[in-house]
Amino acid sequence: MLLAGGTGVVTQELLKDALKYGKCFVRNGNTANYIPELQRVNKYQLGICAVGFDGDLPEVVEVGDSRVPFTIQSISKIISLILAVRDRGPDYLFHDKVGVEPTGDPFNSIVKLETKSRPFNPFINAGAIAVASCINGTSADEKFDRFLELTRKLCNNKEISLNESVYQSEKETGDRNRALAYYLKASGVLEGDVEECLDLYFRMCSVSVTALDIANLSAVLANQGKCPFSKEMLIEPHSAKAIRALMLTCGMYDGSGEFAMSVGFPAKSGVGGGIAVPLVGRMGIGVFGPSLDEKGNSIGGIKMLEFLSEKLDYQLF
Ligand code: GLU
Repeated sequence: MLLAGGTGVVTQELLKDALKYGKCFVRNGNTANYIPELQRVNKYQLGICAVGFDGDLPEVVEVGDSRVPFTIQSISKIISLILAVRDRGPDYLFHDKVGVEPTGDPFNSIVKLETKSRPFNPFINAGAIAVASCINGTSADEKFDRFLELTRKLCNNKEISLNESVYQSEKETGDRNRALAYYLKASGVLEGDVEECLDLYFRMCSVSVTALDIANLSAVLANQGKCPFSKEMLIEPHSAKAIRALMLTCGMYDGSGEFAMSVGFPAKSGVGGGIAVPLVGRMGIGVFGPSLDEKGNSIGGIKMLEFLSEKLDYQLF
């Protein structure tokens, strides 16, 4: 049993009920079809994990496919942002490189690049590619190693590594991201070599995680940047706060407003089927469900979170 601030309680039973509810909707979606390796994944998988840190020792509750590996995809945008803000400072990053406003456009949209001097926010592909170009390091390898090291710490899992076939698949089919990156270079936003930056971006998206890993990452964000297991400060508190705010306004692509109304939790999804949810001062939730809606969000995942938001006493609104 996992205590949630003393009043709302997340139990194995509650998560089982959430899973049962979420499973009813999975058949209505599909895996991401624009990345061949993701399209092949079994869309009927669904799992959820919560890591609470109310007491001295963090508690973990999980059900379903919470230990099945999937690629982190856009949830990596949180981790690359932590690094870039650390390397360049928030003023430079959020002033010169990316904005902090929702777009209302799909995550891979190109349409606003020509009318704005920088991408709208760091969670759309254009913004994340610009952010990736601001990570310090002498090569893509060195930058990726820094990303992997931080990911392993945030997820409390030293085994996390790259899914080579998803990486190759993304690299082969990522022409839209290539177009975004070259446009950003031409407009002076992307720093350094375009192909090196894209290679880093594709690798960061292709790191393999589980819902448990994502719940741990979310718990660090919810705990103001401190790992509830090691007690190590892993994210600067100002970054953790900015990221949670961005998750609320931009984390679910162009479905962020609807998600805020129906669930009301800060969240970041990825087209691998993951959703990271930090509930401040209480717990981190990680979801895996690769059947996606038309906006690229996990259908079963959203339904499980809707169910939990009804049952928990955690209300932002
Ligand atoms: N690697 C994916 C892409 O760039 C990430 C998209 C996502 O998860 O939103 O298209």
